[in-house]
Order: sequence, then C-alpha cells, then structure tokens
Amino acid sequence: LLNQYGNPWLMLSDQLLLGVTNLGLLAMLVERAQERLRILAELDPLTGALNRAGLAARVPEPPPAGTGVILIDVDHFKSINDRYGHATGDDVLRKVGNLLKQFESPQCFSGRLGGEEFAIVVQGTAPEVAGVAELIRRQAARMSGVSRNGSGEWGCTVSLGVSVSDSSTEQTSHDLLQKADEALYQAKRNGRNQVKVAG
Ligand code: GH3
Ligand code: MG
Ligand code: MG
Repeated sequence: LLNQYGNPWLMLSDQLLLGVTNLGLLAMLVERAQERLRILAELDPLTGALNRAGLAARVPEPPPAGTGVILIDVDHFKSINDRYGHATGDDVLRKVGNLLKQFESPQCFSGRLGGEEFAIVVQGTAPEVAGVAELIRRQAARMSGVSRNGSGEWGCTVSLGVSVSDSSTEQTSHDLLQKADEALYQAKRNGRNQVKVAG
C-alpha cells in the first residue's frame, strides 16, 4: 500500500487540499450564477431593455435637480395587436426598446415599465428633455416593419409625458414618474402622437 500510494498521511492532506480547492471552485460557480440572476432580474426578457427595477436601481433617490423622466406609450397598441397579430406587437415593442437604447449615455437609461409603456431618464433642463422627447416621437413615427400575419406593413406613433426635477422642490422619483404620467395622459387626451411637459 505504501509503495503504491506513498505516505498515507500525505495522501490525506492531498485529499483535503483537493476538497478545499473544489469548494472554492464551487463557491465561484455559485457566485457567477448569482451574478447572472442579479443581471436577469433587472432585464425585460422581451426587449432586453431594463425593467422597472433595473431603472429604479440606476436613478439616485431623490433624483438630483435636472433629472428628466420621459414616459413613452405606444398609441393604440391594442389595435396593432388586433390588426397585425401579437407577434408583430412584440416586434413593435422590441423596436421601441432599441430606439430608446440609441438615446442612452453613461447617465441616461431607458427601460420598459410594462406592457407598451417605456421610460427614459435623462439629465437636462426642461426644454432639453422635451427636445429629446420630441426626437423620440419623430423617430418612432418613422418606424415600420412587415407584419407577421400577412397584413402588410405596420407603423406606429407614441405619446410622451415629460417631467424634470428642479432645485426649488425636493421630488422623489415617484413624484417625477407621477407627473410624467399625468403629462402623458394629457398627450393622449389631446390626440396622441405628441409630447406634453408637466406644468
Ligand atoms: P392608448 O393609445 O390609449 O395607449 O391605447 P392602447 O391600445 O395602446 O392601450 P391599452 O392599454 O388599451 O392596450 C395595451 C395593450 O398592450 C393591451 C395588451 O394586450 C397589450 N400588451 C401588453 N403587453 C404586451 C406584450 O408584451 N406584447 C404584446 N404584443 N402586447 C402586449
Ligand atoms: Mg398605449
Ligand atoms: Mg399603456
């Protein structure tokens, strides 16, 4: 036995070392899996955009003055689903997500809040943020694609609500979202395909 395997005590220490190394490897794998889960928990699976939690995690609370929130809601999206099919509706959502991604920068994040509603957080004055919203509106109106159910080419418009935090009143991100949502509601009521800035 001793000739074949050497010192039995050494063998035991080798095995312990191996065991510890294995545990270390296992811990690394678990950590990597957990990191992947953390990333996935902040992403919307359909569009690959950040989800509500992912967006919230990236905005300081309370947001500093000059934080702009733009809410983007696809107009008559239900009709797009009805006319071109749900799969085409999903294409539209992915395209909106990609469009918003193009406006991202180190301090500017976009995400899907749910359904056909998206948000982008940008820094700037109210006119600057409104300018970004207007650009998004125009580019969305130029989007198109071939429907998946043979009903021809789809197009869409979006309505946008804008709110910007100022230094005079302390606003939480919840306040900002709520104001942007009211502005979005006004944009819808006013005929859609337009930007409304919260008063
Ligand atoms: P408005 O112009 O007032 O915003 O009307 P709308 O039709 O866009 O809004 P409404 O809230 O009536 O309809 C939203 C629709 O979005 C209803 C729902 O079935 C659809 N929807 C929500 N999530 C998804 C999704 O992930 N994929 C698809 N294809 N449709 C979705
Ligand atoms: Mg809608
Ligand atoms: Mg909606």
